[in-house]
Amino acid sequence: TSTLDAAAVRADFPLLDETIHGQRLVYLDSAATSQKPRAVIDAEVDFLTRANAAVHRGAHTLAAEATELFEDARAAVAGFVGAQPEQLVWTSGATAGINLVAYAIGNATAGRGAPASARFALAPGDELVITESEHHANLIPWQELAARTGAALKHIPVRDDGTIDTDAAASVISDRTSVVAFPHVSNVLGIVNPVAEFVALARSAGAVTVLDACQSAPHLPLDLPALGVDLAVFSGHKMLGPYGVGALYGRSDVLEALPPFLTGGSMITTVTLDEAKYLPPPQRFEAGTQPVSQAIGLAAAVRYLDSVGMDAVHAHETALGERMGEGLRSIPGIRLLGDPASGSGAGHVERVALWAFEVEGVHAHDAGQFLDSRGIAVRVGHHCAQPLHRRFGVTATVRASAALYNTADEVDAFLDAVSGIRSFFGVAS
Ligand code: PMP
Repeated sequence: TSTLDAAAVRADFPLLDETIHGQRLVYLDSAATSQKPRAVIDAEVDFLTRANAAVHRGAHTLAAEATELFEDARAAVAGFVGAQPEQLVWTSGATAGINLVAYAIGNATAGRGAPASARFALAPGDELVITESEHHANLIPWQELAARTGAALKHIPVRDDGTIDTDAAASVISDRTSVVAFPHVSNVLGIVNPVAEFVALARSAGAVTVLDACQSAPHLPLDLPALGVDLAVFSGHKMLGPYGVGALYGRSDVLEALPPFLTGGSMITTVTLDEAKYLPPPQRFEAGTQPVSQAIGLAAAVRYLDSVGMDAVHAHETALGERMGEGLRSIPGIRLLGDPASGSGAGHVERVALWAFEVEGVHAHDAGQFLDSRGIAVRVGHHCAQPLHRRFGVTATVRASAALYNTADEVDAFLDAVSGIRSFFGVAS
């Protein structure tokens, strides 16, 4: 397998040369948002400088060129996740993608859309299933859908070792289940969930699966059709791309049967003052002007990732994650959330390079400030996953997350700084 030349990769990311408080930046907050390579920044600037025009409208040359670049971007991003262009809907991010699906199912329940959409209509007694590890983006839209439709919201618990309790899943998912929404990788636990197991359970229950792929898309080779999920979302800004763009992937039969969420221009065929006919997917879900330059930037991001090679990215990051995990575990007073060494355990699990942890006796925000004073950027707080933190009996953690541009040397600098936190705050034994 190919290996990754970290020095060459780093040279493509202008921001990584910045200093923080006079120290070199060690950026370990890529799970919140990734840094952007020059190729992405240039792609947006080039489009706006040389090819900007309204897409899918107008007969002029620039409009045609812009449309071609925009649709090429769709094909590139779809290809990156193993999908066909018409299976990829632009959104403004993962949150928007999940809300799109939840509102579309709500519309189907209200009797909107083509007869085919009856497939997604919820009936009294129907259940929506999520996990205890959701980011709020894959939780609150389902709470709201339940409240609007009278469906019940159920969850699959997380074990002490951070794995999702697949034994419990088999009893939580039942004939009453209409939707199973779950993360490919939790943004707090970093564990790669067994998608195939959830898909099999959901399928036998006749439920639609919704995968939150935000934290997997930047880090491992992803083939959404092969994973067998019905719908999936991911976010551009976490995978080297711009802000304000993301995507919803859907199996063709699922997208075709799903009524729209947002309505307006660009998603219709004929309109009268009384009613409208909708375009097929993906345009049916793309009302209004889309984030065109951002989509083109995201295409540059996936081309960049492909040029490095996702196998190489995954191998490089796996090594960083293991180094980080081993190092953190050996520092007294550090408690990892979802430590594979604790609990009943599912044995070895695949992970991305992400760890959330508590520093005993030190508030996460103080620990984060201490690390920042040494140029190390991490995230502190609940990381938009309050129920998961509550499950582990904490309100806030420190989270370090690496990406393809991080190095073993940076991980060591981080570990060295973490090992000094408790003595700095006077709590070391
Ligand atoms: N799901 C997960 C697992 C995430 O990590 C995030 C971003 N923190 C989101 C959803 C939401 O993504 P966005 O803010 O780009 O909509």
